Amino acid sequence: MLPLVALVGRPNVGKSTLFNALTRTRDALVHDAPGVTRDRNYGVCRLDESRPFALVDTGGIAGVDEGLQGATARQSRAAAEEADLILFIVDGREGASTIDDDILAWLRKVAKPTFLVVNKTDGIDVPAALAEFARYGIKDVLAVSSAHKQGLDALLAKVLAQLPADGDAEILDDDPERIRVAFVGRPNVGKSTLVNRILGEERMIASDVPGTTRDSIAVDLERDGRKYRLIDTAGLRRRGKVEEAVEKFSVFKTLQAIEQCQVAVIMLDAGEGVTDQDATVLGAVLDAGRALVVAVNKWDGQSDYTRQQTEALLARKLAFVDWAEAVRISALHGSGLRELFKAIHRAHASATRKFSTADVTKALEIAYETNPPPVVRGHVAKLRFAHPGGENPPTFIVHGTRLRTLSESYRRYLENFFRKRFKLVGTPVRFVFKEGD
Ligand code: GDP
Ligand code: GDP
Repeated sequence: MLPLVALVGRPNVGKSTLFNALTRTRDALVHDAPGVTRDRNYGVCRLDESRPFALVDTGGIAGVDEGLQGATARQSRAAAEEADLILFIVDGREGASTIDDDILAWLRKVAKPTFLVVNKTDGIDVPAALAEFARYGIKDVLAVSSAHKQGLDALLAKVLAQLPADGDAEILDDDPERIRVAFVGRPNVGKSTLVNRILGEERMIASDVPGTTRDSIAVDLERDGRKYRLIDTAGLRRRGKVEEAVEKFSVFKTLQAIEQCQVAVIMLDAGEGVTDQDATVLGAVLDAGRALVVAVNKWDGQSDYTRQQTEALLARKLAFVDWAEAVRISALHGSGLRELFKAIHRAHASATRKFSTADVTKALEIAYETNPPPVVRGHVAKLRFAHPGGENPPTFIVHGTRLRTLSESYRRYLENFFRKRFKLVGTPVRFVFKEGD
């Protein structure tokens, strides 16, 4: 499972600054994609790519500052209680305040592993700042400056040492022919209707995958001779009615499902188009580099007229993921499912395709010769050769010189060129540029 780290602290200590520093994506798979909104509370830290973890900024959820009471405080508390680790953020310039004392008392009740993170230690007497908080009795203390990105490597190393390392093993280690699929989307788009329909059809050969930790849920099934593992979807977790009501839409569980799958099927409600929440989920899929299929559900409820309008709206709103296939389905009537599974297969095949260095270099040469990069302030980038750098998503390592002058639009041109040439559908494509011969 994707571990969860909660940032807790009073307002203004720098929680969101730290959150942003930790969750910024290093190689943005989405280049300022219009239409992608980032959820402000939850994000994934990928500074160590092999060990991503989720972060929740409970400040955005509010509450702790409102006297630790009320509905918002409860959400904050729920996030902290769900977390594997809490980072208690304080302001090294202002020192300990009574609100910090209150939060500390609360954290003692939560009783989770907690690190004290003393922020804003740029340009101040660090030992004196730390001494202020010695009476808190927290063993693990880190001095950082989130704004100046100081101390973050040490923080990251300490966080990773604390977090569980191999929780995914049982979910992930499996038959390479089995495709891991997650159905994600906001509440009420029809996820559980779809999953139940799929499982209902295949009831005889569907089986639970024993969970590894906490509440991880997956189901294996075969369909038309192909093997799938449905990962931790809201549809699979319809059980405790009470818990569900409290849980609402869990961004964290969605992030986990995305992390564990190979193909994310994002479900939309045809009647509602692409909402901000949908765009948030899409952004998370792109950040994770997962293959993507869009399932436009409740197509049965559309008249010919509204269908046309819906098509136009979707084309516009989903232009930034125009490489993903959109399938119209009705989970209720079970229509479009065959097409949906075909799209899942195409996306998976593209995402896991193997390339030879010769093919990749050839593609680069042709792209370069057809349309060389423009001169930028007297400099021009040279692209020399390329080789494959991994799958899921397909990654291409490009070597050359003056690569920093490559414009965003040229990078996009390369991406589209490779997509066309290798007929890649339904998967993000990643380029890594390496300076030198
Ligand atoms: P939050 O309310 O806890 O999320 O705090 P913010 O992240 O919004 O930061 C509050 C203020 O502190 C902003 O003006 C930040 O620019 C500033 N700030 C955050 N981190 C640092 C830091 O490491 N050093 C300094 N000097 N200022 C910081
Ligand atoms: P979830 O929260 O995403 O799991 O959504 P549900 O599966 O609970 O569906 C929410 C509502 O939408 C329920 O009332 C379903 O009956 C309805 N629904 C789901 N799929 C369809 C569909 O294909 N067509 C229509 N008309 N309604 C649907």
